[in-house]
Amino acid sequence: MTRAEPPPAALRLELDSDALIANWRALDRLSGSATAGAAVKANAYGLGARRVVKTLHEAGCRDFFVAHWPEVAELLDLVDPASLAVLHGPRNAAEAVYARATGARPVINSVQQAQRWLMAGGGPCHLMVDTGINRLGLPLDDLGDQAVQALEIEVLHSHLAAADEDAAFNAVQQQRFISARRAVPHGRASLANSAGIALGSDYHADLTRPGLSIYGGVPRAELANEIRQVVRPMAALMQVRDLAAGDGVGYNSTFTAPHQMRAGVIALGYADGYLRCWSGKGTLIWQGIELPVIGRVSMDMTIVDLTAAPGLQEGDWLEVSYSLPEAAAASGLSQYELLTLLGSRFAR
Ligand SMILES: *Cc1c(COP(=O)(O)O)cnc(C)c1O
Repeated sequence: MTRAEPPPAALRLELDSDALIANWRALDRLSGSATAGAAVKANAYGLGARRVVKTLHEAGCRDFFVAHWPEVAELLDLVDPASLAVLHGPRNAAEAVYARATGARPVINSVQQAQRWLMAGGGPCHLMVDTGINRLGLPLDDLGDQAVQALEIEVLHSHLAAADEDAAFNAVQQQRFISARRAVPHGRASLANSAGIALGSDYHADLTRPGLSIYGGVPRAELANEIRQVVRPMAALMQVRDLAAGDGVGYNSTFTAPHQMRAGVIALGYADGYLRCWSGKGTLIWQGIELPVIGRVSMDMTIVDLTAAPGLQEGDWLEVSYSLPEAAAASGLSQYELLTLLGSRFAR
């Protein structure tokens, strides 16, 4: 039996490393006297955590955040484990033991997690306090707890619920965070995600935790001219078809050819993150020419109108329009979803 190399994929994600670095540097600069870290959970929002961590570490980033403990394992050989923090904290004794063994930092989110961490031997950790998002985080009333006060807190965190809006609640959370800082001994303090960075110096503290905007997301208008597109999904044209007037296209024939026309079938569908919301709305780009998606995205395939580029052939590559703020407006998906949906069939 011979071991053959698999042929190249019909989908690939072009990742612009220069844009990735430029975005992180912009966010670091906009963080003022604070330093920017990087949220690299969920495989760096789908881009590939190893590659992103390596690239940003070379650019000077020294604080990385993942959500789950298994996400730490694949990064341990790339950076000092002390620069990796796990946002979900130690959910059980095994995770606390793993944190101690690897040196990655648990982000403590409750009195129970604080006790669990101390029980496992304790040591340097982060603490997340809840200032109103009611997601994860220690309630402010618990800051005086003995176990919490006994922690060795390198970074004290909180997370903003609506930094992407001009919500009065942002200032409420910022004030609560200041009280939390007075209530527990800690090293650095960190409040802002990508959008929070744009709220200004009151929100910067010592360390910021951008994720979305490193990868090209624009959660607030202030960031629009600072942030560049990083991800360009590319899909190969599998078949070119000539449609006659009246021919239906895709599931349920939601598009009917009004006249004779050329259409192209590309290898892009639900499992790749190209969901049904793109039906009749998405566009593919070939040498600057926009080719509209016609009919429904149908499982693993999407059909495009080739009228504007009649010379296209099987095997040609098309770029999926995927500038995050515009793609979010067009699809109704959030910029977070657009990134994290991109499936494993894309060669990265
Ligand atoms: C994901 C996450 C971030 C990054 O947020 P963005 O909105 O993507 O910039 C920051 N902090 C915490 C706690 C997170 O979970």
